Amino acid sequence: MGRVYNFSAGPAVLPEEVLKAAAEEMLDYKGTGMSVMEMSHRSKAFEEIINTAEADLRELMQIPDDYEVLFLQGGASQQFAMIPMNLMKNREADYIITGQWAKKAAQEAEKYGKVNRVASSADKTFSYIPDCSDLPISENADYVYICENNTIYGTKFKELPNTKGKLLVSDISSCFLSEPIDVSKYGLVYGGVQKNIGPAGTVIVIIRKDLISDDVLPGTPTMLTYKTHADAKSLYNTPPAYGIYICGKVFQWLKAMGGLSVMKERNEKKAKLLYDYLDQSKLFKGTVEAKDRSLMNVPFVTGDADLDAKFVKESKAAGLENLKGHRTVGGMRASIYNAMPYEGVEALVAFMKKFEEENL
Ligand SMILES: *Cc1c(COP(=O)(O)O)cnc(C)c1O
Repeated sequence: MGRVYNFSAGPAVLPEEVLKAAAEEMLDYKGTGMSVMEMSHRSKAFEEIINTAEADLRELMQIPDDYEVLFLQGGASQQFAMIPMNLMKNREADYIITGQWAKKAAQEAEKYGKVNRVASSADKTFSYIPDCSDLPISENADYVYICENNTIYGTKFKELPNTKGKLLVSDISSCFLSEPIDVSKYGLVYGGVQKNIGPAGTVIVIIRKDLISDDVLPGTPTMLTYKTHADAKSLYNTPPAYGIYICGKVFQWLKAMGGLSVMKERNEKKAKLLYDYLDQSKLFKGTVEAKDRSLMNVPFVTGDADLDAKFVKESKAAGLENLKGHRTVGGMRASIYNAMPYEGVEALVAFMKKFEEENL
């Protein structure tokens, strides 16, 4: 069987060129006679892999020199604890609740200090991003936390919140490298890589250097202290080596594609094709306020659960995989990350048109 168009929210589609190159190097990485999976993380070959990956990421995202780049484990969810453990000096932080992932992050942070939920879009099942231009930011807040692209609900912050001088911490798991961002606006920005960059198991943290210190909450494990990993250049212990290698290959792919501005244009073009269709469809409709729509995750429904199920089943048979919505939301969701080609979205829209004709 050939490859399908995979609309999974994560782990998700990766560039075919990257997978092919990795396959070619599987048994013998550049004349070392072994796979990257089999080599010492202290070897020259791996040192070059991780150093090149970091340099390429810095170039792609224009990461300023006063920021550290860390390749860690534990997924995005581990950061829900690591962030407060390292940054909650006053034991207080403000969270903006725009979906499940922000909610989970806030719940976890509550183990370590006071959490103020300063804004939320729970009133309309997270179908929009609240106005964050003038929030009641707490005087003692160590940081303001957002989930920038809400993978499950399909919303995205198009403008960062006004944090009134407080540090901004952002989870960009599902919009990582989908468009340029200004790293200098954040104290810490992080993401699990399995949405848009690589295999699950690696998380990338980009953190301003002055925020890295031994002054962490009492009892913080060595492995959950940013300073441990910053001091060791992400090689304190065995890192997720194969994951970092694939991330590095995706960074090179992104550079060859023309970088993040080009990716943004491509992603806008793909998303427009799908949203334009949804906006005029008589059967399907999008679930998100137009101004807050994500370029990466597009939820939609027919309004009839049986018809939704039929759509998911028939689309799968047509080679369009993983269109079922999140288990907490229902309906459908098309995740159209960087590696999803335009042709994949064309195939989806063509299938939706046909389904609409047959079922309206
Ligand atoms: C998937 C996802 C997570 C959770 O990632 P894990 O690596 O499974 O912990 C957190 N935040 C966002 C925005 C996500 O999309």
